[in-house]
Amino acid sequence: MVLALFVPYPKEFAEEYKRKGYWAGLTLGEALDEVAAVFPNKEALVAADRRLNYTQLKDETDRLAVGFLDSGLKPRDRVIVQLPNIVEFVCCYYALLKIGVIPVMCLPQHRFSEISYIAAQCEARGYIIPDVYRRFDYLKFAEEIKEATPALKNVYVAGENCPAGFINLQELMQAETDPERISTLLKENRPAPMEAAVFLLSGGTTGLPKVIPRTHNDYLYTMKATALQSGLSKYSNYLAIAPLAHNMTLSCPGIGGTFINGGKVILSQSVAVKDMCAIIEKEKVTIVGLVPALIISLLNYEKKEESDLSSLVSIISGGSKLNPEVAKRVKPELGCNLIQQFGMAEGVLMQTDDLSDEERVIFETIGRPVSPADEIRIVDGNGLDVPPGEVGEMICRGAYTIRGYYKAPEHNRTAITAEGFFRSGDLMRLDVESGCYIVEGRIKDMINRGGENISAEELDNLILSHPKVDNAAVVAMPDPLLGEKCCAYITLKEKQSLTLEELNSFLLSKQIAKFKLPERLEIVAELPLTNVGKVSKRELKLDIEAKIKQENAAKE
Ligand code: AMP
Repeated sequence: MVLALFVPYPKEFAEEYKRKGYWAGLTLGEALDEVAAVFPNKEALVAADRRLNYTQLKDETDRLAVGFLDSGLKPRDRVIVQLPNIVEFVCCYYALLKIGVIPVMCLPQHRFSEISYIAAQCEARGYIIPDVYRRFDYLKFAEEIKEATPALKNVYVAGENCPAGFINLQELMQAETDPERISTLLKENRPAPMEAAVFLLSGGTTGLPKVIPRTHNDYLYTMKATALQSGLSKYSNYLAIAPLAHNMTLSCPGIGGTFINGGKVILSQSVAVKDMCAIIEKEKVTIVGLVPALIISLLNYEKKEESDLSSLVSIISGGSKLNPEVAKRVKPELGCNLIQQFGMAEGVLMQTDDLSDEERVIFETIGRPVSPADEIRIVDGNGLDVPPGEVGEMICRGAYTIRGYYKAPEHNRTAITAEGFFRSGDLMRLDVESGCYIVEGRIKDMINRGGENISAEELDNLILSHPKVDNAAVVAMPDPLLGEKCCAYITLKEKQSLTLEELNSFLLSKQIAKFKLPERLEIVAELPLTNVGKVSKRELKLDIEAKIKQENAAKE
């Protein structure tokens, strides 16, 4: 029996992926345990105050898994994980995977609007939170979420402050010590590798986030393929600095790809360059995945020479487009290789090869798919392949790309083609000479703010509910550091006025994550329309780009 409303891979594809060895038939938990058996005493996980070797990581996750079962969770239950980059994140994630309970990966910045929606959508039974993080009281917040989510039974707390009625994770992990009972329960509750293992979230192109189910088989394969392409080995020290809930940090190659190779994962809660340099030096970090905004901050950090960054072998740039001029600076200024990566939580991954690709390819392209099973097509508006080298939408099918979002049959009819290709919404072209791809833009209505994808439609709808607003359209505006930020174009009702501050306090009252807030407001007499009468976001984007260009020219 598999989870209802989960779209499995069609039988003939599943068989082929198994036969060709892409799918190993292991669970993600088993893959971790296998490495623990090979490197029992090797350091696996390091965070500010804690260091765990592979045996400790295995034991802690085993005990916690049983603790979760004893607290009432059952295989295929869903649990929202909303933790920062702390040891408990990793332990909870693997503990849940080991018993087939599905962790739902949320960001610490998500607020009531996002969490209550996702909890309802997944009928979450559990919710894992810190007590306080960045001055936000998650305990109080969890009470509100619990009240709004009837299916939600258990709230688990990482931290000392755990009120009555909530479950303390530390105590839960220490409760069961009988190795025999642990081993029996883990065997009895082992999930099947073709089942949904983890739920990731899409930025959501149509309003609120979509839930992306990844199976043990396909997610493990993602990690293997991208770890291989990134040169991961037992000697690698991987710095997880972007949120762990991001696909990139979780599996590309991320913590998962590092563990399956017996490497060491270092967690950072801070994204400040000063702290990043200190950790690289202290832990001899060899590889780190960064969004372009962080690469730019690192390159521009005037005190970077004061830290010893010589251990760094490669930086993986992913999440949003890296400007070639920035890409060119990485090797000469930081002394390490650059790997460009294009990926999405729905699956398909592309990477440049830092060892064999020529410089132009590394600077300008996002490389090639990481798996020989990836079928990539670039198509026009009618779904027909464009001639090689021309721009079109990238659609893909393969051994680790989803066949459908969870509980979204309606949306899946447009998101996936009849042949099972996932429509990325990204515009690309093939660089015919190298066989690599170049990102040229996108057709999906999103803003990519430093790697964090924001649904423009979600913001449009929220702004439209403001009593002074007549019509609204949120578009991406260029930003030198973050790549893009949100700009809201608005027409007001008669005799009304509105400032950006007023608009944003209204949006915050709707309890959305802060990173989604517009950073510029343009009040206009009317919004431009396309010839079918829809608001032309294309024109608005061009308008804001021209305005910013003009303003920058005036400053010079
Ligand atoms: P997510 O699923 O949140 O990881 O976001 C995936 C989306 O981020 C992709 O569909 C792209 O729009 C964008 N993206 C990821 N990597 C890159 C990249 N290297 N260059 C340009 N856009 C990217």
